[in-house]
Amino acid sequence: MISRIDLRGSLPGDLRSVLPRAELDVEAALDKVRPICEDVRHRGSAAVREYTARFDGVELERVRVPVETVHRALAELDPAVRDALEESIRRARAVHRVQRRTDVTTQVVPGGTVTERWIPVGRVGLYVPGGRAVYPSSVVMNVVPAQEAGVGSLAVTSPAQKDFGGLPHPSILAACALLGVDEVYAAGGAQAVAMFAYGTDECPRADLVTGPGNVYVAAAKRLLKGVIGIDAEAGPTEIAILADGTADPVEVAADLISQAEHDTLAASVLVTDSARLADEVEAELKAQVARTWHVERVTEALAGRQSGIVLVDGVDDGLKVVDAYAAEHLEIQTADAAAVAARVRNAGAVFVGRYAPVSLGDYLAGSNHVLPTGGCACHSSGLSVQSFLRGVHVVEYDRDALADATARVVALAEAEDLPAHGAALKARFDWEIPS
Ligand code: NAD
Repeated sequence: MISRIDLRGSLPGDLRSVLPRAELDVEAALDKVRPICEDVRHRGSAAVREYTARFDGVELERVRVPVETVHRALAELDPAVRDALEESIRRARAVHRVQRRTDVTTQVVPGGTVTERWIPVGRVGLYVPGGRAVYPSSVVMNVVPAQEAGVGSLAVTSPAQKDFGGLPHPSILAACALLGVDEVYAAGGAQAVAMFAYGTDECPRADLVTGPGNVYVAAAKRLLKGVIGIDAEAGPTEIAILADGTADPVEVAADLISQAEHDTLAASVLVTDSARLADEVEAELKAQVARTWHVERVTEALAGRQSGIVLVDGVDDGLKVVDAYAAEHLEIQTADAAAVAARVRNAGAVFVGRYAPVSLGDYLAGSNHVLPTGGCACHSSGLSVQSFLRGVHVVEYDRDALADATARVVALAEAEDLPAHGAALKARFDWEIPS
């Protein structure tokens, strides 16, 4: 059901090469999405509708969802789901509000200042996945930081659903309405990313697209980066659990299954120094998978090469392994979990102890669930207010401060063989300009 990798004895130098990981071939998908993106660029909405018919099996008259439909979805939302979404939004706002940076002015020299101004991106397209599962929670995780950053124009897109009259899932529409977003499109995959990048007759182009998605979404983001800004490529979800003999096998197995139910490519990895725990978790997985709702999807994800149980000699080695793996979600289920968690270097988000499972973070912890996958957590962060801001340096020098800097600027400009740079300063002081 789940493979084992035994790293007891000594850890290999190149740990990454022996750890389980999905082979998400974004490069191969590039060839597939390139013509789709080109087509949307030239034919706009007609092309988006055509690919929606091909990949989602829905013939659309318009890609934009009528505003009344968005609002009606909220009116018809199950009250318990509405309550949960409202609380999720409240907690996410509390966490994201404090991320907003304030402008800072530094006096560099007398008469010379640099102010770092944080300016929100003008228009953002938010991708909410909707192929295998539907994610109203991803609406919250995308929209809240964008709103807290002060983004003026927000549009959400999510795949058209055959079972819901070609609209995005009603819970996604309702979440948009709850957050005050009424510009919503029924489009998924590469065509949706291209719609935001190039703009269409129905959808004005956006400056930035964010949000998780499958390999086609990731490939389109990689291809169109530059035409449009992107966040990190957030692909199939991952959970790594660093656990010792004090962890509860029932809870560990339940948490591994909870992320495996996202996707057949989802990764569930247990790193432990306890062979007993490994055996007990494996037995628990068998028992719990048999009872789980998405039994086929979970079975395939756990059996895939991206999932596994890694045996190590102690928590110190376990930390080296989870740092090399750089999981999207990392749970620490050890004695003194907070102290162990404090030593983690690479993870999208860290969940400390038995009462902070990843499922809480997926919905209601207040943390963001759009996180870097595929090992990107060693260099990238999850979605935050910062993802929607640009830092702009505003430079103000008076005459004396510039005069004081001129000789050094000229020296550096000449060292770079760019004398016109120096001349631009000298011109302000009637100094001789070299011919
Ligand atoms: P999706 O919305 O990303 O993709 C569905 C779209 O893919 C469809 O609308 C279709 O247009 C396109 N498509 C399908 N088959 C195609 C083909 N053969 N060629 C071209 N396009 C095609 O939904 P999904 O497939 O369910 O994937 C969502 C992913 O997002 C999952 O892997 C899930 O684990 C991940 N996810 C990640 C996070 C995170 O923060 N990292 C959060 C939520 C979900």
